[in-house]
Amino acid sequence: MKFLVQLIVTVFLVHTTVAQQPSSEEFNPESDLMAQPKLVVGVVVDQMRYDYLTRFWDKFGDEGFKKLVSEGFNFRNTHFNYIPTYTGPGHASVYSGAAPGTHGIISNSWFNKFENQFVYCVGDPSVKSVGTPSDAGQMSPHRLITTTVADENRLHTQMRGKTIGIALKDRGAILPAGHTANAAYWFHGQDEGKWITSSFYTDALPKWVQKFNSSGKAAEYMKPWNTLKDPSEYIESGVDVNDFEGGFSGKEGTGFPYDLPKLKDKNGGYDLLKSTPYGNSLTADFAIASLEGEDLGQDEITDFLTVSFSSTDYVGHNFGVNSREIQDTYLRLDLDLARLLKALDEKVGKGNYTLFLTADHGGVHVPAYLQSVKIPSGYFDYGKFKEELNGFLSGKYGDVALIRNVSNDQIFFDYGEVLKNKIDREELQKEIAHFALQYERVNKVFTRSQLEATSYTEGIASSVDNGYHQKRSGDVVLVLEPSVISYSRTGSTHGSGQNYDTHAPLIFYGKGIKAGNSLERTEIVDIAPTVSALLGIPFPNGATGRPLLMAFEE
Ligand code: ZN
Ligand code: ZN
Repeated sequence: MKFLVQLIVTVFLVHTTVAQQPSSEEFNPESDLMAQPKLVVGVVVDQMRYDYLTRFWDKFGDEGFKKLVSEGFNFRNTHFNYIPTYTGPGHASVYSGAAPGTHGIISNSWFNKFENQFVYCVGDPSVKSVGTPSDAGQMSPHRLITTTVADENRLHTQMRGKTIGIALKDRGAILPAGHTANAAYWFHGQDEGKWITSSFYTDALPKWVQKFNSSGKAAEYMKPWNTLKDPSEYIESGVDVNDFEGGFSGKEGTGFPYDLPKLKDKNGGYDLLKSTPYGNSLTADFAIASLEGEDLGQDEITDFLTVSFSSTDYVGHNFGVNSREIQDTYLRLDLDLARLLKALDEKVGKGNYTLFLTADHGGVHVPAYLQSVKIPSGYFDYGKFKEELNGFLSGKYGDVALIRNVSNDQIFFDYGEVLKNKIDREELQKEIAHFALQYERVNKVFTRSQLEATSYTEGIASSVDNGYHQKRSGDVVLVLEPSVISYSRTGSTHGSGQNYDTHAPLIFYGKGIKAGNSLERTEIVDIAPTVSALLGIPFPNGATGRPLLMAFEE
């Protein structure tokens, strides 16, 4: 009924607009070409499935997620359009408006055939740590080969608009902020518990960061974690103690409460905070402090603040998407979001900023749980697969090591060995594809030749295609069956092109945005072009998405 009324109202509005025939005088370049908020805030919630919004809706307060949904524009059918759905590719895609096949961040870590070693997406030994004696600061966005929307804002404003990136995870802070960021800050745990950066941005931590680090905030969060609400209220998640959760070293079982001071030493010192909702609270505290510390949104030139909440991902990996721990983490994130919005209203001003909230990927139900309720699912052992593949190949080609690496569902050939043994590369691709397709739990196989010669536009094939980087990716790509993962039997993970990993929240809110929602399919790569269009600045150089104009105020 509500939708019918909405439809009638919409038709009526469209009709009146047409009848009134807007004259060209009504076009106002000042307001119609660009919204020019003082600040754009991009919020990524790590591993947030779209359905967390609806599943936990009744338990959220009025000032966090609910406020964004009711006052902003909610895209209810937004998907990642590529594989693999991991954190590095996710953050890069949100802010570059492109998929890994274009921006080059093909996973969190991948086998780099040119360096003949594994590389981390933001690892950079050429820069120095700032704020820590450890090597945790040796990071930069140098492997990202496109610009982000924040870079385009910097170029457009002659570097007068600032960019600051913040996340517990280095990759969640660095990739969104891009190449021209004033700074990106991430959290180093262990015995330090400090926000750090790298010499890629600056040679010393600014005063406000030093002050925050010495404020004792991280230590304050080292306190017991109990449920926010009465345990009887957590009817949207499974029972507290079950067989599908990992838990912490030094504690029997997975029941609340978790005594963090007691667990600290056996769980990485301050790194333990990352795996609790307090990691998100600390991120919100730091982001709020950055508004003043970095003078964000204080003049007419648009600044960018990119914030990524990482703890949701750690908790999901440890306890699974159906756990009471994950529900509690989202109820607490809701409060942290409310605090961030309040601070933005106070420090930048209501109506002066535009915010979007999305995720870097979703997450799968724990397959062991799915099996317990009879849903097809399972586990895939890549170690065993690789061994059997090598056995098959030596039966066929003799005792030669043709496979250099198997990772990220991809098989990388040793080109030197292939050449030396005069083996036809295409034939080898086909042989391996045939072998893999006979293998239990493998659903689809794509070869390099196939992906280089074909452009797929639909379904899983197009997700493989979009995630495939011709230079950086492997020679044969496997797609496992739905809800089949290569992971422990407890906790959730992500990485696939299935709906549980691709369906993410996307809400725009604030200046230039009208209230509303849409079920039209939209994609993660649409976010950056939408922000570009709102600001009247160029799209990121590799962007393939389209601006979602339906969210704009008329
Ligand atoms: Zn992630
Ligand atoms: Zn993850």
